[in-house]
Amino acid sequence: MMSGFSRLRAGGLLAGAALFATAACGAGAAETTPDGKPEVVAAFYPLQWLSEQVGGSDAQVSGLTPPGVEPHDVELGIQQVTELKNATLAVYVKGIQPAVDEAVEPDTSFDAATAVATIPAGEHAEEGEEEHGHEELPYDPHLWLDPSRLATVATKLGERLATADPAHAQGYKERATKTAAALGALDQEFTKGLTTCTSRTLVTAHEAFGYLADRYQLKQVGITLDPETEPSPARLSEVAKLAKAEGVTTIFTEALVSPKVAEVLASQVGAKTAVLDPLESKPSGDYLSAMRDNLKTLQTALGCTA
Ligand SMILES: [Zn+2]
Repeated sequence: MMSGFSRLRAGGLLAGAALFATAACGAGAAETTPDGKPEVVAAFYPLQWLSEQVGGSDAQVSGLTPPGVEPHDVELGIQQVTELKNATLAVYVKGIQPAVDEAVEPDTSFDAATAVATIPAGEHAEEGEEEHGHEELPYDPHLWLDPSRLATVATKLGERLATADPAHAQGYKERATKTAAALGALDQEFTKGLTTCTSRTLVTAHEAFGYLADRYQLKQVGITLDPETEPSPARLSEVAKLAKAEGVTTIFTEALVSPKVAEVLASQVGAKTAVLDPLESKPSGDYLSAMRDNLKTLQTALGCTA
């Protein structure tokens, strides 16, 4: 019984957790730290990085998804649900983590997807994929992989934090401007670095790079829509055919997904594999350095001359 209980999905825990939160804290009670700082709970790494940049020393930022954990389909315990509900501001992207979408309170949450122009979700969803993470979402949620969109999110986040903590409004706005400028500079590096390439097709482990492809005129072919889904043999041979037709030299893998499928595919089409980080979990450096590593990987794989 206990092991069954601990493996329950967050959705199953929510009813009890909501009662608990209401009883313990009163409806809508926003939490601050003992020294009065607003508590910002970021759903997964890129949002945590962004919240730390914009929050600076005025806010207490914590990450909900532990390092090394794939955030899609994350399961939440009662404590994490309570943390999300009581946060001064919960920062998330609707559609990445259904358990988080259910737990956040409308008045004390910031959905980064509402801050930018979204693009449609991948179109090749196979039979059976609907039960996983990105189900029935009208848009692709991986917006942080376009630095220019993330810059817009930084600005909007600065405004939200300024409203939540007016005494420090100027600090939030200044740091948001600085963060947006750093992201703007990164965007310029990508634009310049990916202008002249022999190939513009990205074959990726899961469809995380749609915004990057959209921003820099690349074409993404994801082996699967969702990192937890095994591709069907039909999908694999479809991707292999496409990769051959487009002269793809590199199949991209990611750290938190087994490279096996990508390796099989690569050997079928005579390509190499390389790691392209979707930044769904904390990289060894930070967002900016990991994106610069991604740019180098792309330039090598796609034969770009900068
Ligand atoms: Zn993803």
